[in-house]
Amino acid sequence: MSETSEPHIAAKGFPDQVGVMGGGRMGAGIAHAFLSAGATVTVVDINDDALEAARKRITKSVTGSIGRGAAGSVDEWMQRVQLSTDAGAFAGCSLVVEAVPESMELKNKAFTTISQASPKTVIATNTSSLSVSELADVVTNDVIGLHFFNPVPASKLVEVVVAKSTPEELVSDAQGWVEKLGKTPVVVKDAPGFASSRLGVAIALEAIRMVEQGVASPKDIDNAMVLGYKFPVGPLELTDIVGLDVRLGIAEYLEETLGERFAPPKLMREMVERGELGRKTGKGFYDYSGDS
Ligand code: NAD
Repeated sequence: MSETSEPHIAAKGFPDQVGVMGGGRMGAGIAHAFLSAGATVTVVDINDDALEAARKRITKSVTGSIGRGAAGSVDEWMQRVQLSTDAGAFAGCSLVVEAVPESMELKNKAFTTISQASPKTVIATNTSSLSVSELADVVTNDVIGLHFFNPVPASKLVEVVVAKSTPEELVSDAQGWVEKLGKTPVVVKDAPGFASSRLGVAIALEAIRMVEQGVASPKDIDNAMVLGYKFPVGPLELTDIVGLDVRLGIAEYLEETLGERFAPPKLMREMVERGELGRKTGKGFYDYSGDS
């Protein structure tokens, strides 16, 4: 973003028309968060099946909110959701949050598509670890990282990631938006892994090395952190929730950018190769085969 370019169109207040690119686990949660603050949300995904899955996920979250006492009916909330396979539907959005899978190539393409559809919109990326500055380079839009946590409705934290080109006023606007979503922003410089993934993955990798070396069982390692350090969930159970494949990808990126201390343990690679990815495949450090 050059100094002479026009300011982003959302500069003065909460965006009432928000786009979400990628309606998967995170995208649906992000859509729900903005709906809960009164916005209209446009979700774009690759095909009708993905959109139907997104609609179901959002409906489930909305039903949960209403069950917990939020005003309105599911139908009223869902009337504010538009689903499309055409990014042209983002025209008019003052903020578009990108939540496509964690790949620089995919995200670069998503950024270009969003920018073509809505050249003035602010683009926020939900990347867990990729360089926001590098992503911002492919477009002329104002760009910031808004790193939501999984599951979005229950998670109070959003990392506001400041890229080299992010205007200062956008950083304070974004903090305000996050607060309006009922969450707490933490402002982090665009450094590999930001604050949360860097620290969270470092602990998880050490925990996996401890399992590998037979220091203790997964349950005992998790209990040490939950009971000893008041972690809400142990590092191995959390790795199962996030997905071993997702965390392996982040560890590889952090090893490349921050050094050997983030080298993924052999056990982690072997588990990913065996398809033991955590909750989503029924097995990780724990067995979920009995879960519905
Ligand atoms: P996901 O696989 O559940 O969802 C990705 C969605 O993007 C899918 O619906 C897919 O169809 C869609 N998609 C793929 N290519 C697309 C394209 N070109 N245009 C539009 N949609 C497209 O992934 P997720 O877990 O929701 O992760 C999304 C992002 O959020 C990633 O960057 C990830 O690192 C980040 N993130 C994930 C978590 C987590 O715990 N899962 C937490 C924080 C951040």
